[in-house]
Amino acid sequence: MGGLHLNRPIVGLAATAGGKGYWLVASDGGIFAFGDAPFVGSAGALPLASPVVGMAPGGPSGGYRLVAADGGIFCFGAPFAGSTVGLLKRGAVSVDPAGAGYRVVSADGSVYAFGGASFLGSVSVPPLVGEVVTIDPGHDGGNGSDPGFIDQPIDGGGITESCDTAGTSDAAGYSEHAFNFDVAVRLASLIEAGGGTVVLTRTTDTGIGPCVDTRVAIGNAAGSDAAVSIHGDGGPVGGSGFAVDVPAPVVSPTSDNRAIVAPSATLGGAIRDGFLAATGEPVSDYTGADGIVPRADLGGLNLSTVPKVLIECGNMRNAGDAAAMEDTAWRQRAAQGLADGITAFLVQREVP
Ligand code: ZN
Repeated sequence: MGGLHLNRPIVGLAATAGGKGYWLVASDGGIFAFGDAPFVGSAGALPLASPVVGMAPGGPSGGYRLVAADGGIFCFGAPFAGSTVGLLKRGAVSVDPAGAGYRVVSADGSVYAFGGASFLGSVSVPPLVGEVVTIDPGHDGGNGSDPGFIDQPIDGGGITESCDTAGTSDAAGYSEHAFNFDVAVRLASLIEAGGGTVVLTRTTDTGIGPCVDTRVAIGNAAGSDAAVSIHGDGGPVGGSGFAVDVPAPVVSPTSDNRAIVAPSATLGGAIRDGFLAATGEPVSDYTGADGIVPRADLGGLNLSTVPKVLIECGNMRNAGDAAAMEDTAWRQRAAQGLADGITAFLVQREVP
C-alpha cells in the first residue's frame, strides 16, 4: 500500500496457505489483499471498541481472523471459536493460527487457545512492565530557607507564577514537604513492585527546589505514561477531604496541553477512585466536584505533555485530616490508593 494514503497504520500481515498471496490489516480493521489472497470482508466499517493489533490466516477453511487490543476476534471466511473479551489484564498483542483454531497472546504473557488449538504454556509479566511513572513530591525541605530562589517568577504556560513555595504544615508543625516525600517514596516502591519504572522529581527532603517548571519538564522528558504531583492542602480549618486537580485546556505561546486533557481526566478519576477505596478519606467538602478540580492556573499541569494530575491528599489545616496524614499506616494506604489508581489507568488504556 506504499502508494496509497491510509488513515491508520498497518499492524499485521498474514500469508495464504500456498504462499502466493497475503493480507495486510490496519488498526481500524481495514483489509488489503494481494496475490491470490481473497478479500472476504473487513472490520473497517465497524465501530471498534479498541484498535486491531494483529491477524492470522484462517487455516483449512481459508479466510482470516483479526484480533483487537481488548481481545475481540473478528472472523472472515473462518469459524469463530471464542474471544478473550473480558478476560485480559493487559492488551492482546497477536493472534496466531493453530490447525482449525487459533491462539491469542496478551501483553502480560497469557496465552488463550481456541477451536482445538493446544495450550503449551505461558509466562507472567507484572502489570506495570514497560510503564514509566513520574512521581513529584511537592515542595522541598529547604525551600523556606531560600526565598530568593523559591519566589523567582517562572513561566507556568500562559501564566507567571513563583518557582515554588515552602508548602503548608499542620497545627502540630508536621510539614507538607515531609508528608509529600514520604507518600512519594511509598508510592515509588509500589510502582516498582508492579514492574514499573519510577522517575522522582526530587530524591531527598532536604534540598531547595527544583522549580515547578523543571519538575514538569522531568516528567515530559521521561516520556511518562502517567505523572502525579503529591501535595497536602492548606485549606480552610473547617474543610476536609482530598481532591484531584486535573488540567483544563490551556493554549499559550509556551504551552498547549490539549492533547493530555482527556487522558489526564481519566487518570484523575482512576486516582480519585483508588484513593477513596484505599483510605476511606471522603472527597473534599470545600473544593471541586466529586473530588475533581479542573485547573488552568498551575504550571505543573499547563506545561505537561504527558497525562498528569495533582492530588491534595487532605487538608493539613483541618484537625481530622491532619491526624490521618500524620499516621504512618494511613500514608501507606494513601500510597496504595495512588498506585491502584495509576495501575487501573495504565491497564485501562490497553483493555477499555
Ligand atoms: Zn503543596
